[in-house]
Amino acid sequence: APRKLAAGNWKMNGTLASLAEIGRLLADHPAPGCDVLICPPATLLHAMAASAQGKIAIGGQDCHAKTAGAHTGDIAAAQLRDAGASHVILGHSERRTDHAETDAQVAAKSVAAHEAGLVAVICVGETEAQRDAGQTLDVISAQLAGSVPDGATAANTVIAYEPVWAIGTGRTPTSDQIAEVHALMRERLSARFADGADMALLYGGSVKPGNAAEIFAIPHVNGALVGGASLKAEDFGPIIAAL
Ligand code: 13P
Repeated sequence: APRKLAAGNWKMNGTLASLAEIGRLLADHPAPGCDVLICPPATLLHAMAASAQGKIAIGGQDCHAKTAGAHTGDIAAAQLRDAGASHVILGHSERRTDHAETDAQVAAKSVAAHEAGLVAVICVGETEAQRDAGQTLDVISAQLAGSVPDGATAANTVIAYEPVWAIGTGRTPTSDQIAEVHALMRERLSARFADGADMALLYGGSVKPGNAAEIFAIPHVNGALVGGASLKAEDFGPIIAAL
């Protein structure tokens, strides 16, 4: 069975003072019933890894497809690993929009992550216009086919379904809508990968303490990728507890 994972994406939020939240999480949830991951800005990776004491996994929010070189502002997967990361989020919709990342680039970055020993948390999700046009399942299928590399395994890859219109909006799909996409993802991944049945599938988009339990009860939802509600232990803690 897939491992359960509560993942936080801090996006472009947080300073050294925010590390106090890690201490609060460890104090309030000393023995969580799932894996816990926080992906802070790169500036905080090393210090957060120290604060987490190996009890919370730490991840980056992006990496470059190349191992080193003249790429100002970018970070290599091995550098994330060196800073204490075990995971990296790839292909988040904000990267796809703000930096025009394509499926092929996400796949190349995922290969780089795997080669550096990182777990790739690969994100997919439809826009509101695509959902309204009835294209959701086609969009998700195409993103999975294009963004998940052939070397993906249940050990090195996690997939996050994040409908673009649910991110930071307070709007979430119905349980039936999430169930439909997660069933499709399980079917596609199981058809393509020997251990696709064991790949963890996360839901992301306006997950809060108040809706987490309902979302975690949906078949093939193995955890969440949480944005805003991961910034404070008082919000992320109850989400971890719900999983
Ligand atoms: P919110 O939880 O703030 O909607 O963000 C979701 C997200 O994009 C996580 O990667």
